Amino acid sequence: MIPSILPFLINKKHRLQNDKAGNDMIKKGKSVLSRIAVGDALVYVPFSCDKSLRTYDDTEDVEALIARYKETKQKARGELEALGEQMKQKGGDQEAFVQAHEEILLDPVMEEEILSLIRRDRMYPDSAMVQVYENYIQIFSANKNEVIQERAADLRDVLSRLLRCWHGVPEKKLSDLEKPCIVIAEELFPSDTLSLDLDHIMGIITEKGGLTSHTAIIARSLDIPAILGCEGLTDLVRDGETVILDGVKEEVVLRPSEEEIRHYEKERDRIEQALEINRKYLEKEAVTKDGQKIEIRVNLASPEIRGKERIRFIDGVGLFRSEFLYLSQDQLPSEEMQYQAYKTVAQAFQEKAVVLRTLDIGGDKQVSYMELPTEENPFLGNRGIRLCLTHEDIFRTQIRAALRASAWGNLKLMFPMITSLNEFRRARDIVYEVGKELDQKHVEWNKDIQIGIMIETPAAALIADRMIDEIDFASVGTNDLTQYLCAADRMNSDVKEYYQDYHPAVFRILGMLAEVFQKAGKTLSICGELAGEYKAAPVLIGLGVKALSLSITNVPELKRRIRSITMADAKALADEVLRMKTAQEIEQCLERFEEHIQMESTNESE
Ligand code: PEP
Ligand code: MG
Repeated sequence: MIPSILPFLINKKHRLQNDKAGNDMIKKGKSVLSRIAVGDALVYVPFSCDKSLRTYDDTEDVEALIARYKETKQKARGELEALGEQMKQKGGDQEAFVQAHEEILLDPVMEEEILSLIRRDRMYPDSAMVQVYENYIQIFSANKNEVIQERAADLRDVLSRLLRCWHGVPEKKLSDLEKPCIVIAEELFPSDTLSLDLDHIMGIITEKGGLTSHTAIIARSLDIPAILGCEGLTDLVRDGETVILDGVKEEVVLRPSEEEIRHYEKERDRIEQALEINRKYLEKEAVTKDGQKIEIRVNLASPEIRGKERIRFIDGVGLFRSEFLYLSQDQLPSEEMQYQAYKTVAQAFQEKAVVLRTLDIGGDKQVSYMELPTEENPFLGNRGIRLCLTHEDIFRTQIRAALRASAWGNLKLMFPMITSLNEFRRARDIVYEVGKELDQKHVEWNKDIQIGIMIETPAAALIADRMIDEIDFASVGTNDLTQYLCAADRMNSDVKEYYQDYHPAVFRILGMLAEVFQKAGKTLSICGELAGEYKAAPVLIGLGVKALSLSITNVPELKRRIRSITMADAKALADEVLRMKTAQEIEQCLERFEEHIQMESTNESE
């Protein structure tokens, strides 16, 4: 039985007496991890400047302007050389892009045109660079040949480097931070987050993005404290100022006093110690008190697995977000590169299942080099499996790489954004066609490979019983499912009150799905962020979900919760939740349940 009213305990012990809420010293946001970071701010602002064309008068010394222009070029060249050296050391295949940029920088035709504009047309060098580069950018962009079009992006990049050097603004790189810092940005794109310098990053604070944005997902999977949706912050903080990221109270403290810094550092250390103890739960089995095993899988965003020794304590990969291979570089990943990445993960997990989600771009995950048309409603547009079916060559390359990798472990394929059986069938047929081609070339692959779908659209959820015979398994993407059920963009903080993870519709659909899959004897897992929400987990289990896939960071705590409940408790809770009318009622009910299990677990020692 769940106690109906238990006092709601608020831990006030660590609240500062002189709480500054109400003035600008504290900014509220949404926190990704309940951790604290105290450190120097690095305000990440991509460079921009006024590009209007200006001419000089007789008071200017033209030779001095030309000398400054040459210095600027030299500086830009020095940066590119250093970058090339770094890429070489990292062993990546990105050197070619540095070379291409050097070639542009040294191009004699453009050089002549720039010098002529400076001397003949009395243009300031920065304006001359803008004029010449923009001209070629326009010409290249208009070309029908895609390779030539791509050069326009390189030109833009080189121009931006030149202008930054001209203005004497140092380069800010998130991949190579000089010292530990908390990165503050208006927004980080997945490629920014993926290239973060993990040795120095202490935390991330952004003005945009919510808890299911990809910045949040990556921060969580890399175990980086982050607060998102902190509006107006970049205007309030300067580089090098100490900031406090309080992931517990979901706020950022600006210009803290010495006393506050000491207090938060102590609090940070206390939390880290508690987390360390909690991490011991990773090694335990995820079984309820009455013996029901729950499969705990992890979500991966890259083939790099931090802490490989942890693999033996988890039941596989429930979601491998393959799109990050496409987002972390500036061209399509080759079949070979993908094959190596998928093979690495499949081999690392051996007989344990690795669910490879096929390319899921579109929505908030844009790949600029694909130059896809701008859409009015990208979340309702050509994304996920739709995009793969309209760019079949890209899809076939990925499938070929995945099937080749399937010979090395227990790889499964999962299609995102499915809304109907037709899309599933088309995608599945492509898999078998590619398989046949591999057979003809005597390339090994797992012919029994399981093929499933993500259930993340209401349409797919509502016809799950009609699809069940043809699919091998499914995983529910609650991030998108919630956004489509609530008609609230998961990236738009203006509608965050409408994006309700605890909306009764979400739990009702999950309950229906669990029943359909249980009846059919097929696996249903949940791989959206809801799976890693400790409060919600008992309901999901009570509804009949037996597999959860989440960020590895959240696994110990989830296992601890699972070990402190019984199936009877979980079912009673699920029944109660299904009767509720609003997200707020559900949240209160989950909080009461939470207190109930907290109290029980303090009475029993493990
Ligand atoms: C989801 O939508 O819940 C999901 C897991 O996919 P993504 O967050 O990558 O869109
Ligand atoms: Mg999704």
